[in-house]
Amino acid sequence: MGQNNHIKVGIMGGTFDPIHYGHLATAEAVRYKFNLSRVIFVPSGNPPHKVARAITDKKHRYLMTILATVTNPSFEVSTIELNKEGYTYTVDTMKEFKNLYGENFEFYFITGADAILEILTWRDIDTLLNLCHFVAATRPGFNNKDLDDKLEYIKGKYGKEIFKVEVPSLAISSTDIRRRVAKEEPIKYLLPEAVERYIQKNHLYRE
Ligand code: ATP
Ligand code: MG
Repeated sequence: MGQNNHIKVGIMGGTFDPIHYGHLATAEAVRYKFNLSRVIFVPSGNPPHKVARAITDKKHRYLMTILATVTNPSFEVSTIELNKEGYTYTVDTMKEFKNLYGENFEFYFITGADAILEILTWRDIDTLLNLCHFVAATRPGFNNKDLDDKLEYIKGKYGKEIFKVEVPSLAISSTDIRRRVAKEEPIKYLLPEAVERYIQKNHLYRE
């Protein structure tokens, strides 16, 4: 699984609309398990797969990600995708990270298992699989047979093993949090308090 002298860095991509404890607990679990030196959170600029609904302004998503990660010394936030115009693709982002950091760094891209099920639709997936390792976090309410089949298929076709990590069952999603805010239901304990206050202060997710 990579050479000893490499510095291992986790990449946690997401819309983070808003960021929540599912993202944070997963990043921390993977950081610990793979002995990563840090995890870089990468809020997406304009993800091609999320065109169905209007995504919250990137300034807000960036600031919420900063607020959520500030208490963990191993967490960082990158503006690499936020600064781009047009659609952003993970393969381009990872190429940039590789160029930026150089040969001594090894990247672990952290995703939920739901994202892995769709990974074969990602742009230039064969290139991407060679740029970084992938870690699939098991998400609650999830059929693991589908995931195992997919991982088996990827291993057969691309010769690439995707690591699996069981994270404590966190049935938290940004969709559910947005829905709760709109219905004036509580979101306390689903995400950091600073993010909750930020949502209130800026009137996000109200109908
Ligand atoms: P939405 O409901 O809007 O799709 P989300 O909660 O899925 O939001 P994203 O920003 O889409 O959050 O997800 C970013 C990454 O975090 C994805 O790889 C996703 O699979 C993963 N993820 C999201 N929620 C969880 C969770 N509760 N536990 C583990 N991973 C998660
Ligand atoms: Mg999602």
